[in-house]
Amino acid sequence: MTRTTSHDPWLDLVQRRYGIVGTPESLPGYADTNIRLTTTDGASFVLRVSPPPIDEDRLDFIASVLAASAATSFSTPTLVPTIDGSHHVVATDGHVLRLFRWLEGNTYEDSGPHQGLPRAIGEAAAEMVVSLAPVMQPTEHRVRLWDLRYADETISERFGLLGTDHERYLVAEVLDRYRRLDRTSLPEQVVHNDINPGNLLVEGSRVVGLLDFGDTTKTYRIAELAIAAAYAALDVDDPVATIVEVCSGYGTHVDGTVHEPTEAEALALPDLILTRLATSVAVAAERTSANPHWHTTRDSTWDLLGRFVAGDLDAITATISAAIVGKPAPTPKAVRRPMIGSALSLAYDEPLTITSGRGAHLSDSLGRRYLDAVNNVAHVGHGNPVVVRAGAIAMASLNTNTRYLHPELPRFAERLAATLPDRLDTVFVVNSGSEANELAIRLARTVTGRRDFICVEHGYHGNTSTLIDISPYKHDGPGGSGRPHWVSVLPALDPYRNTDLGGDRAVDIYGAAAERVLDGTNPAGLIIEALPGCGGQIVPSAGALSAAYAAAHGAGAVVIADEVQTGLGRVGDRFWAFELFDVSPDIVTIGKPVGNGHPLAAVVTTRAIADAFDNGMEYFNTFGGNPVSAAVGNAVLDVIETEGLQQHARSVGQSLIEGLRAISTGHNAIGDVRGAGLFIGIDLVTDRATKEPDGPLAHAVVQAAKRSGVLLSTDGPGHNVIKIKPPLVFTERDGHTLIDVLDRVLSDLAD
Ligand code: PMP
Repeated sequence: MTRTTSHDPWLDLVQRRYGIVGTPESLPGYADTNIRLTTTDGASFVLRVSPPPIDEDRLDFIASVLAASAATSFSTPTLVPTIDGSHHVVATDGHVLRLFRWLEGNTYEDSGPHQGLPRAIGEAAAEMVVSLAPVMQPTEHRVRLWDLRYADETISERFGLLGTDHERYLVAEVLDRYRRLDRTSLPEQVVHNDINPGNLLVEGSRVVGLLDFGDTTKTYRIAELAIAAAYAALDVDDPVATIVEVCSGYGTHVDGTVHEPTEAEALALPDLILTRLATSVAVAAERTSANPHWHTTRDSTWDLLGRFVAGDLDAITATISAAIVGKPAPTPKAVRRPMIGSALSLAYDEPLTITSGRGAHLSDSLGRRYLDAVNNVAHVGHGNPVVVRAGAIAMASLNTNTRYLHPELPRFAERLAATLPDRLDTVFVVNSGSEANELAIRLARTVTGRRDFICVEHGYHGNTSTLIDISPYKHDGPGGSGRPHWVSVLPALDPYRNTDLGGDRAVDIYGAAAERVLDGTNPAGLIIEALPGCGGQIVPSAGALSAAYAAAHGAGAVVIADEVQTGLGRVGDRFWAFELFDVSPDIVTIGKPVGNGHPLAAVVTTRAIADAFDNGMEYFNTFGGNPVSAAVGNAVLDVIETEGLQQHARSVGQSLIEGLRAISTGHNAIGDVRGAGLFIGIDLVTDRATKEPDGPLAHAVVQAAKRSGVLLSTDGPGHNVIKIKPPLVFTERDGHTLIDVLDRVLSDLAD
């Protein structure tokens, strides 16, 4: 409790004019000073001290608003009169003092979301509209800041303070829609105008009180609902569903006083919700505050605006407009893709339209947010601001091919090489994992003077003709034409299904098997993943992997470590997956994660191999290593380093694997949980003894998890391994969400 000595003159005044003496405690406040006073007999008050000048009209107006709002079913502030019946007192220093009864209860902000609460918030908004309908505002309220009738001026005046092009784009889109809105026929009346979680007192799913009438004004009647809905939609996974729920509460309170929303109100509501969000961020851009709550709300508001504006705004607004007049949501237009090759597959039985992403979350066209547990492309997080900024700046400066010197490229090459063993010191920058592996094959063939190749069972290395030939996952799969004669395939490295490959004798057993395969061959290279991904998120034993390397080297081949899925800190303990083992590749290929979604990939090899490749035939690559790609690559390396993402992957991955193993005891369908860092597989089986893969269950789990807001996918030859490889910014809390959803989904489906 803070003794507010500087406020003593005000407290003396309270004693004289109200006859009340209490222990003071400072409360948060923006322009006003708020002091809680508790008397010895336990009564509690809030003393609100407002700086001059005095606006007598406004004070009278607020007093009549508070009197009218006493008719609601929930508590609202009550003004305590002075001994002589006045509703305020003016101090000698010009401040205005008002005394309110203390309202008990927890705010929605403190107690968090609760099922049923959005509907109750809508009902509260309707009750406010009913009770304040008769209140007259004598003069136009001078503060227009939060009045949605003046949103254009509020936002436009602050537009230049917005920090980035993306922020300006989001706000401009909303403002443009607001300007096009027909607002001439919107009914106006006095409303509370700030039904936000900090002002709502709640108990479970009930609203028990509404605080802070500081922004109360005459404005659009529907603004009461728009503002309440905008705040209720912050920080929820399905904001449109929440808004629809708020609307359903508003609609239930239709009686003789609140008219059913007019058609104009229903049409304006969605854009007024968006406009309130835009107003909030515009005003926030002007205010700097040490209060962390302020920042959290601002970040949540930007997040929601980003999800909405990137989504299908017409569908979002149509859904909300329909909800407020009690109509069902319009059916979304079927998205047909007549111009896109049908072999390009989509995830999920009911495809998702994903339009925005932030960190480890993706959002669909209606703003619904999903936890992304599978996207290893957005390595440092979707929409990572450091990467976006680096790419945007570079793009605005120069983008061309690599026939010129440019400082970003050697810097990227140097930094990439520095993460690898010393002998791997020469870098080629390309545009995709496939292109990296293609080039690696050419390097291997040139340096050895041979053509044949070795790969590992179930491996996938890319989409070109040659790579399909050395990808059993493809050439042995549907539509494939089998293994070409020049390809040797080593056995899978899976110690779960082949327990011989897990024990002490793995090196001998795998070594012997590999030598049998390679007997009589003249291979140029072996391409191998240290942790096979498409093979089923396998974690080989050290013995088996080093035996594969030894067999290839023994046959005169160079070894290509395909790190497209596993590189750049994902595996936690090391920066590269091959470093988890005692092996020494001659070429490393790097893809997906290094560009965080930008098409960027690389091949790193020894000087000797690179020199052998420089045999007179020029190597040219139009896009590879262009200034924008190189800048993006440098930004990705920066973020991994500055945010400690490798260490983060280790600790979050470890607790995720432990959590998954803990739930596996309750689900017979989980045969194995394996992984390193944030590269994890859950092997689903029909029977733990036979280890028969349960592909249909894995498929059903992925579809059901999606319905619960978690994105996963399957891998492995039996399509039965749930793969988990999220952006590395995935948090421990995200891990708990994932575990809970999997636990529930597996119980529903399997047991
Ligand atoms: N290697 C591996 C191990 C991969 O998983 C992939 C892509 N899934 C590739 C190479 C090919 O990369 P890209 O799709 O970028 O061509």
